[in-house]
Amino acid sequence: MVQVRSLARYLEAFAPLAYQESYDNAGLIVGDPDMEITGVLVALDATETVIDEAIAKGCNVVVAHHPIIFKGLKKLNGKNYVERTVIKAIRNDVAIYAAHTNLDNVAGGVNFKIAEKLGLQHVRILAPKTQVLSKLVVFVPDSDLEAVLTAIYDAGAGRIGTYEHCSFRVGGTGTFRPLDGANPTVGEIGLDETVDEHRLEVILPAYLENSVVAAIQKAHSYEVPAYDVYPLNNANQEVGSGAVGELSEAMNLPDWLAYLKQQMHLNVIRYTPWRGTPIRRIAVCGGVGSFLLNDAVRAGADVFVTADYKYHEFFDADGRIVICDIGHYESEVFTKELIIQQLSKHFRTFAVILSDTVTNPVQYFT
Ligand SMILES: [Zn+2]
Repeated sequence: MVQVRSLARYLEAFAPLAYQESYDNAGLIVGDPDMEITGVLVALDATETVIDEAIAKGCNVVVAHHPIIFKGLKKLNGKNYVERTVIKAIRNDVAIYAAHTNLDNVAGGVNFKIAEKLGLQHVRILAPKTQVLSKLVVFVPDSDLEAVLTAIYDAGAGRIGTYEHCSFRVGGTGTFRPLDGANPTVGEIGLDETVDEHRLEVILPAYLENSVVAAIQKAHSYEVPAYDVYPLNNANQEVGSGAVGELSEAMNLPDWLAYLKQQMHLNVIRYTPWRGTPIRRIAVCGGVGSFLLNDAVRAGADVFVTADYKYHEFFDADGRIVICDIGHYESEVFTKELIIQQLSKHFRTFAVILSDTVTNPVQYFT
């Protein structure tokens, strides 16, 4: 049997919690990590109806995109839908897990799914995050080099884009003098020692620092390995907000709007005027995206597909780009497919089911 903990660990290897926005509340929201999974229901929102659906379908885990508890709860007496959902989940031993902005912010996540639905090519992160990478330098006696490198790679360091096992090393001389109380692997108390060592450098996601350092301490033969960790300003091209890519063929605006409506199963698109040049490069951001408008313009996008635009924010398009507001639910509904695909790749011992509850609170009268 698979425990909820393993499900969380697997999802977080793809969409690390460290990449959620500061206001977010992704992760295991309700439930015991040790509970054994009978089935997983995947929904955009974990509502009361979705918990009922999970129970009816024999699923004791709901994986949702939006965290049901977002701003915190001070009382739990069922006076609103959030409290009632949480109470129902706890009473029925249903765990609720949310993969939210951490799933937005990774390559292959929510925005890449939208890009896939729109048939975009050369898809990349629209606004890559900085300050999420570190450089680690460790000084290793030649005899430890292979063991330390293997430990570093296994702990997740040394990846750059589609390359792994990336490192740099240069040979040199390490010096030290063990003091009273030391238990040196090499050298003697009170005597200066000189050893042939390598200076080994790797890049790593900053959130993995503790586990990489622990791996080094385990693999390195010295009592006290010498290492440095430097925060980097380099953008991580694999992590960040939004996505951008190109249509295989340019379109005019009416054709584009018809295509967008069809591909994303839309009732309505709210959009801004266009100067008439062909549409080819498309920026996307599931859910609230207005904060990325300038990134989309800077990336040379002809169109920005997103949601939750306010009236005055539409003016910011200013003829530079076509904002297409397709609705929050509509922009993210395919996230369910993405989660199902991820889970089905790895877990075979329980069912992973797509929720058929329409959780969109917005209806259209047309
Ligand atoms: Zn959303």
